[in-house]
Amino acid sequence: MKKITLNKKTKIISVSLLFLVVLAVVIIICVNGLKEEEKPLSTYNMKLSYDDENHVLSGEEEITFINNYDNMFTCLYLHLYPNAFREGAKNDLVSVADSDEVYVDGVSYGNIEIKGVSSEGENLNYNIEGEDSNILKVELPVEVYPDESITFSVEFATTLANVNHRLGYGNNAINFGNFYPVICMYEEGVGFKTDLYHSNGDPFYSEVASYQVEIAYPAKYTLASSGSLQLTTEEEGVATSKVSGDKIRDFCFVLSDIFDSVSQKVGSTTLTYYGYEGDSLSSALEISVKALNTFNELFGKYPYSTLNIVKTNFLHGGMEYPNLVMISDNLEDDEIAYVIVHEIAHQWWYGVVGNDEYNHAWMDEGLTEYSTLLFFEEHEEYNVDTASLVKNATESYKTFVRVYTSVNGEVDTSMDRPLNKFDTQPEYVQCTYTKGMLMFDSIRKSVGDRKFFKALKDYYQDFAYKNASPADMIASFIDSTRVDLEGFFNSWLSGDVVIK
Ligand SMILES: [Zn+2]
Repeated sequence: MKKITLNKKTKIISVSLLFLVVLAVVIIICVNGLKEEEKPLSTYNMKLSYDDENHVLSGEEEITFINNYDNMFTCLYLHLYPNAFREGAKNDLVSVADSDEVYVDGVSYGNIEIKGVSSEGENLNYNIEGEDSNILKVELPVEVYPDESITFSVEFATTLANVNHRLGYGNNAINFGNFYPVICMYEEGVGFKTDLYHSNGDPFYSEVASYQVEIAYPAKYTLASSGSLQLTTEEEGVATSKVSGDKIRDFCFVLSDIFDSVSQKVGSTTLTYYGYEGDSLSSALEISVKALNTFNELFGKYPYSTLNIVKTNFLHGGMEYPNLVMISDNLEDDEIAYVIVHEIAHQWWYGVVGNDEYNHAWMDEGLTEYSTLLFFEEHEEYNVDTASLVKNATESYKTFVRVYTSVNGEVDTSMDRPLNKFDTQPEYVQCTYTKGMLMFDSIRKSVGDRKFFKALKDYYQDFAYKNASPADMIASFIDSTRVDLEGFFNSWLSGDVVIK
């Protein structure tokens, strides 16, 4: 061993070095301490098998719930959305006006059957409850305290109705939206949000989670799904696909035996448009790519590796899910571009930044409508006059107010109410989409472009992978613009503002 004796000068340098190292460590600890800790996410591991003859999707899902709340839980509540499709359901599946379009081959029903719930081989007590058999209550084997987790499995069978809807089979494709039990959102001080399905809007609300999904289906079909496809194998006419999705708030897939697809890489995202055989696919792909690029630029980067734009039998214009949007196959040619852009904008407002779509639908729909306008403002080649969009929206809203006032003697123009408090579909559309778009346009005009676009970017960044409440959105806009917009927002949301 060689002993080293330090002289005085070396000692001073060593002490100084030691001080610098300690200081650096302290700084690193402080900086990291200021950063918000990334909490682990709950996970859904699903093994699914689709029986094409009986239109039944059998599944086993293993859920690991991570308690990121301050509360202790002894039971959990899960949505059973497919029960909205069953015979005798309390709420109509669609508004009466849309009935013929959804039930193309006559009335048809579906449902979800829970076959068992277990944890580590032990059966758990569960109950089907809620306002209309729409909730699965699972009694946990132990109390789950903050930062603890519990893993349990649910065995289920979802029967699809013959409907042109988010969940159901039609003549061209099979849609699997909201097909599995998903944990209800928990709000501190409020409890689990167990709102019942409603024909108005998209009555969904969930937390981001990690998904590992294995799907077995007849090999004649092509699969388009949320997440990213890892592998597909085929054996005796059955295809099995493995898909993984991280930080997504729902999982959806579509099967069709007439899909034809085309893909393009946009940065680190592979964008694929699924049309039908014989379709010209290039224009739909082109506008999808432009929408992804434009919103990446305007709001902040789309963080996923996959985005699938999927044509399918669906009665309304389109429907958004994480990494996958459904585009109706009964759209007129001049409607397709608008719907594609709208649904892609939802990847930012609903997908990454979530909100309670049942109680505050204006948050994602209003901002998505306005984002669609922003796209056409940037892309004059589509000949959409955005000033006319605002003018037409204003006229359409004024007509709604006039007609409803003359028929009913009064009109409720408040925006922030639950879906079941809108008496008709037009009332819902006018108060969330149209008025929402006009509200964001009005904010932009009053604070100016620089502050408005900064506010959108900040809102996206601050609430990524979270659910924002109306108060969160208002506070975020005030913080970014340094303009007190509280009274402004409130007068629009309450219905006090008069649009001229
Ligand atoms: Zn929408």
